[in-house]
Amino acid sequence: MINNNQITKVITDKSDYSADEIVLAAGSWSENYPKKMRLKLPIQAGKGYSINVPRPTGITHSCHFNGAKVAVTPMKEYTRFAGTMEFSGINEIIKKQRVEAIAKAVTEFLSGHRN
Ligand SMILES: Cc1cc2nc3c(=O)[nH]c(=O)nc-3n(C[C@H](O)[C@H](O)[C@H](O)COP(=O)(O)OP(=O)(O)OC[C@H]3O[C@@H](n4cnc5c(N)ncnc54)[C@H](O)[C@@H]3O)c2cc1C
Repeated sequence: MINNNQITKVITDKSDYSADEIVLAAGSWSENYPKKMRLKLPIQAGKGYSINVPRPTGITHSCHFNGAKVAVTPMKEYTRFAGTMEFSGINEIIKKQRVEAIAKAVTEFLSGHRN
């Protein structure tokens, strides 16, 4: 509920909550709500891409492939190769070329054939 351009109450399916201040913490989806409330908040979701490799890679430390902007994280059951920050709104569109760029960088760096 908004009064005088201020949120005065949050109405949910469980209960209504009044507060002096409200924290909007809906993660990537946060940008959806100000619009609905006709509030202006300069916030937008960023989409990252990652490839999880579920076989032993021998990688035991987090690192970063400089230049390729790919971050490498050894997880419990896989190694994650991640990169990219795409601002294209909230959607489930996966751009093939972005995935391929990460795969190419991983292949080049780990094979030692990076130019
Ligand atoms: C695959 C992946 C890997 C990542 N790896 C890392 C990493 O290794 N290190 C790192 O630091 N960060 C990582 N991140 C980023 C990290 O997860 C986020 O930065 C962090 O979770 C953001 O926290 P948050 O509390 O702002 O949002 P979130 O954790 O996204 O929490 C928002 C919550 O709001 C809820 N919500 C949204 N809308 C509504 C609604 N209408 N009603 C009720 N609930 C709602 C959602 O369900 C969610 O639980 C990764 C993200 C992804 C997707």
